Amino acid sequence: MRAVLDHIGIAVGDLDKALAFYRDALGLHLEVPEEVPSQKVRAHFMPVGESSLELLEPTSPDSTIAKFVEKRGPGVHHLTLRVEDIHAALAQLKARGIRLIDEVPRPGAENALVAFIHPAAAHGVLVELKQKPDPTVLSTTRVALGGFSLTSVNDGPLKLDGGAMFGVVPRPLWSKRTHADDRNRIPMAMRPLVVEGDWGRMLIDCGVGEKPDAKMRDIYGLAPQLDVSLASVGLSADAFDVVLATHLHFDHFGGATRRTADGVLVPRFPKAEHPLRRAEWEDATHPHERNRASYLQDDFVPLLGAGVVTFFEDDQEIRPGVRVVRTGGHTGQHQIVYIESDGRTAVFTADLIPTTAHIDDAWVMGYDLFPMESLAFKKRFIREAIDREYLVFFEHDPYVAAGYIREEHGRRFVEPVK
Ligand SMILES: [Zn+2]
Ligand SMILES: [Zn+2]
Repeated sequence: MRAVLDHIGIAVGDLDKALAFYRDALGLHLEVPEEVPSQKVRAHFMPVGESSLELLEPTSPDSTIAKFVEKRGPGVHHLTLRVEDIHAALAQLKARGIRLIDEVPRPGAENALVAFIHPAAAHGVLVELKQKPDPTVLSTTRVALGGFSLTSVNDGPLKLDGGAMFGVVPRPLWSKRTHADDRNRIPMAMRPLVVEGDWGRMLIDCGVGEKPDAKMRDIYGLAPQLDVSLASVGLSADAFDVVLATHLHFDHFGGATRRTADGVLVPRFPKAEHPLRRAEWEDATHPHERNRASYLQDDFVPLLGAGVVTFFEDDQEIRPGVRVVRTGGHTGQHQIVYIESDGRTAVFTADLIPTTAHIDDAWVMGYDLFPMESLAFKKRFIREAIDREYLVFFEHDPYVAAGYIREEHGRRFVEPVK
């Protein structure tokens, strides 16, 4: 990997004394300090050429920096290497069995992504990897698969409760793979998939859409942007012949309708056929206490009146090379989508494997209505995905749109595609 020295972090006991040396005696320029509340430190950067020194001043006695100084005295705390692709860098380290503190990047200052390598692996030095800026917003990923072009587009961020996203997995385990905010929500995204073949253009799922009000946007951390994302790859809502749903939850199919200026709900993709699994439609239009918050009638009922819906009953090919397979588990009729061409297979896994943090069999969401069904399907599917090298799309992953699930020495990881 190509890495450049970004900065060296120095833990400081007495800031004034440290400044007397670094600023006054050495004459280094001091930038405006940056608060990092999550670490309880104030960071004072001083550029030295292409790199910087970072004086780390604890703002609370229980800050890790305060504890470091107490135990070992002030001094060099870490060094930070800047890499172009932190996910690729971590995958490369993992493949070599390097011990990591962060298996997945966490958000750092200035929208950077950071991850720490264990000092035991780095000869006693705490090494931080950094990639900037955060590529979540509006990132799109295009790959060719045989005769298809697949483009993962982005309807922006989604934040859901970390506990609910990982079911029975305890927080000390999942917090190694993702980082919850002060409302215990983890960062996610909504990434519908554009499939272009010789039969036309399909959108698989369509995000949350523009209907959510301010309260709902706040609760779920939404900033819908699918139109902008489509425009960035030269498309618009009129460009689709088919809009396929994995299931009718609002974060997957809310974007199927929009409200006109006079408040009427109409199809957002007016030229598209919307093939729906009939039993999912029945469940969605007859919600109960456990799923009512996820099935919002305004998302799909207006489509029926507009005459854009077709129903199907069982697993089948929706268009040549694109077929749906019922997984159940998450909802009774949740389905994933296989895209096959020239001996290659891509799978849009929706809420079966929502993020790259969910690639272990038992990491099943608390939201799932039938978790044992999820587990059984997932176990079989992931084995198959590893053995046959499926290109897996992760609809809710904040950073990785798609990748290959690998297994080495009994440990799983995702090798992302660019
Ligand atoms: Zn769902
Ligand atoms: Zn979902």
